[in-house]
Amino acid sequence: MFDSLSEGLQSAFKSLSGKGKLTEGNMRDGLKIVEQSLLESDVSYSVVKEFMAHVTEKALGKRVLLSLRPHEELVRIVHEELVEILGPVDPSLHLNADRPTILMLCGLQGSGKTTTCGKLTQLLREQNIQPLLVAADLQRPAAIEQLKVIGEQLGVPVHAETEHKDPVKVCQNGVDRARRDGNRVVILDTAGRLAIDAELMDQLKRIDKKVGPDQVYLVVDGMTGQDAVNSAGAFNEALELDGVIMTKLDGDARGGALLSVKQVTGVPIKFIGTGERFDALEPFRPEGMAGRILQMGDMVAAAREAHRIVDESERESLEEKMASGQFSLDDFKNMMQKIAQPGLMGRMMGLMPGMSQFKEALDSEEAGGQMKQIIGAINSMTPAERKNPKLIDAARRTRIAAGAGVPSSSITQLIKQFDTMKPLMQMMSGKGGGDRMAMLRQ
Ligand code: GDP
Repeated sequence: MFDSLSEGLQSAFKSLSGKGKLTEGNMRDGLKIVEQSLLESDVSYSVVKEFMAHVTEKALGKRVLLSLRPHEELVRIVHEELVEILGPVDPSLHLNADRPTILMLCGLQGSGKTTTCGKLTQLLREQNIQPLLVAADLQRPAAIEQLKVIGEQLGVPVHAETEHKDPVKVCQNGVDRARRDGNRVVILDTAGRLAIDAELMDQLKRIDKKVGPDQVYLVVDGMTGQDAVNSAGAFNEALELDGVIMTKLDGDARGGALLSVKQVTGVPIKFIGTGERFDALEPFRPEGMAGRILQMGDMVAAAREAHRIVDESERESLEEKMASGQFSLDDFKNMMQKIAQPGLMGRMMGLMPGMSQFKEALDSEEAGGQMKQIIGAINSMTPAERKNPKLIDAARRTRIAAGAGVPSSSITQLIKQFDTMKPLMQMMSGKGGGDRMAMLRQ
């Protein structure tokens, strides 16, 4: 994710770290590259200008120039600044206690609106809340059908009126029905268009005014870069938005759009969509996102991914081992085998600090072979070594490498990986998956 931005920044910092001494001159060179890479990543000019002004001021301050590791200090400043622009967070859906909460989703056609209705539904179902979905996109019969299918898949009712031509009326009827049936949440799936047009905006404004949704969320496609920013501007002018949901951030999306959309709308980024499945919705966390942008990884996202694939009893035993410091390379091997599903390993590596460079290798057909090598190498170790890899000295490293048919540098890397993986395993063992729920608290 966010490859272009990360690569640009990484090369900026490499060029800085390569220089022995940090001066104002070479710091400015580094900052120029940061600026260029932000522009190339679809961050709008005004955002870049503001961002760079803050970063430059801090970077040229004494703290960095006097720092022993100035490039790390600069990364920290850029990280802090990204977090600042991307926040603050508000992942709550602000559910009412005494009446149905009406959530209105709007956005261009294809942005992922209807899919996001399903994702929010799944999230609510996990809280034992039964929402009512309202098919308010009357222009496209296919859209109504799509919502009905989602309702069936997730076991929630869908309010649709094919005979009605007025979406306002359909929404009002939907809300009445939710009141009657006792649904705590109503999700309005409104119409989209391929591009912004006056008629669509007028329709959305009427729904907003007459139905009075509690929360209006704009769904934008993260893959469309500057177009996402432009459409966000138009929707924001027409409606009073309460939040943005950016979808398709699982692909090669350009990260910059997220910064610009935040700046243009001024409302919180609530969630990000990271896949087509209904569970691929994450509460937005600026720290994680800034970390991804800077290739510092996103441990929480990695842990959540991991949490999904480990069952309850395994979690308990992992938790015990982690707590007593008995987590060994054998456990590591078992976990690796577990996450050796096509695509999954690469996705997780992409989220781990310092591991994103392995992502492609692991996503490729080679992945199976690499996994076998790792497992082969662990199998070549003695039980004592698997419990405590610190016992492995240079001579043993060479022996193990020969046994597994890999270069000895792979063994060094494996042991490092084991250390990096530990915090992930910790989260896999118990914590980490739960904060999906936190977003619903009021
Ligand atoms: P709508 O026209 O705005 O209602 O858009 P849809 O919900 O029909 O989504 C359009 C396409 O985007 C569908 O093929 C979805 O499966 C896909 N999609 C939606 N959200 C995501 C996401 O977060 N990641 C990916 N990869 N695809 C998504």
